[in-house]
Amino acid sequence: METTIPASKASISAIASLHALVTLGLLGNVGSYDPGFTTLLLSFQRVEDIFEEAFRPYRFRVPRAADCLICQARPTPSSVEDLDVALDQALARLGNE
Ligand SMILES: [Zn+2]
Repeated sequence: METTIPASKASISAIASLHALVTLGLLGNVGSYDPGFTTLLLSFQRVEDIFEEAFRPYRFRVPRAADCLICQARPTPSSVEDLDVALDQALARLGNE
């Protein structure tokens, strides 16, 4: 099912930039990167009884789900060939779900 979320180009760019910063941190610290959260929520505006202030980050640690296609624990590929095999397996899973 498709979901649409109204968002400005500026909001999308801000989220993409935050994602890039976290990813760059991961690339610089392979094997030991732990920012202390798995999910980052950033409020862009105040919403009564939900977000008390705008531009406040909320960080969460969400455990991996064993049956999740995205975050389930798997061994990290250690070579280009292993990465190709893992990609083929992931694409096969997506085609069979
Ligand atoms: Zn997941």
